[in-house]
Amino acid sequence: SVGIEPDDEVITTPFSFIASANCILFERGKPVFVDIDPATLNIDVEKIEAAITYRTRAILPVHVFGRPCRMDRICQIADKHGLAVIEDSCEAIGASFKGRRAGSFGHFGTFAFYPNKQMTTGEGGMMVTDDEQAAKLCGSWRNQGRGESREWIQHQRLGYNYRLSEINCALGLVQLERLAGMIAQRADVARQYNEALAGMDEIIRPGLAEPDAEISWFVYVVRLASEYGRSDRDRVLEFLRARGVSCSDYFTPIHLQPFYRESFGFRDGQFPITENASERTIVLPFFNKIKEDQVAYVAETLRAAVKSVRAERAVAVAAPKKEEQEILR
Ligand SMILES: *Cc1c(COP(=O)(O)O)cnc(C)c1O
Repeated sequence: SVGIEPDDEVITTPFSFIASANCILFERGKPVFVDIDPATLNIDVEKIEAAITYRTRAILPVHVFGRPCRMDRICQIADKHGLAVIEDSCEAIGASFKGRRAGSFGHFGTFAFYPNKQMTTGEGGMMVTDDEQAAKLCGSWRNQGRGESREWIQHQRLGYNYRLSEINCALGLVQLERLAGMIAQRADVARQYNEALAGMDEIIRPGLAEPDAEISWFVYVVRLASEYGRSDRDRVLEFLRARGVSCSDYFTPIHLQPFYRESFGFRDGQFPITENASERTIVLPFFNKIKEDQVAYVAETLRAAVKSVRAERAVAVAAPKKEEQEILR
């Protein structure tokens, strides 16, 4: 409904869940990736303008891990160049920037309610817009192309079955009532983790606050310091898992996903900040009701993991094999 035509370009981030780029492909558009800001892990707003061409139609920012993008700047650039803004707020329900909710800046905002999100409907999602015409169109597309009259067997256009069921919505309504409380619990868990992990040079913790913004905590992700690499990170993950701490590494950059490599020829090294951050991420257990002693156990185990990796590396660096030193440094 914002008029993406085949081969139109949409500017977005490579550091996200794959859905935020796939939606551009579904419209036969071309995702144009812009590297991220290493501090926030969100699209680097100062690099957007350089990526705009005569084929650019929209900017699709993602509020990664619930940390709001600088939407004032993004909207300003979009206005200047006559572009639509589609906000992927799927990880940021309840977050805000300069007093305005994530998802309310763009022509469209999208939200997702899979069970790992801050609130869930079991499956499904939601989009919001203040464009009445676009809302009507989307409502029709969602409902097998039925027209406004909702006449059951009259189809005005080619549509889909993208309806969110009544049963899912009922669950979502109850979750909505609890949303503020859940977001507050998650912020508290993030604070507990940041305290428990204080004073470790090897670990970059996520900032608890963002200028002019309220974060809605989706996940709690730390990074190994920049001297470390993928193999160190993978050893930390292994160490944690062996001691009962479930953990993960994400995101794998979208451009390096097998489907994107094969279809578009993306290669390593094209978005170095994204790739470098992605190689060092450690996603820790994070849920509303995690207990303080569980957070303490995770933090203690992470400290031990980092210590062990550092010790291994000291041994390797002290060893005389020159080519290994090169790799391990
Ligand atoms: C969860 C999520 C989505 C939506 O994924 P679904 O599988 O459709 O629920 C989109 N973008 C981001 C960044 C997400 O985290």
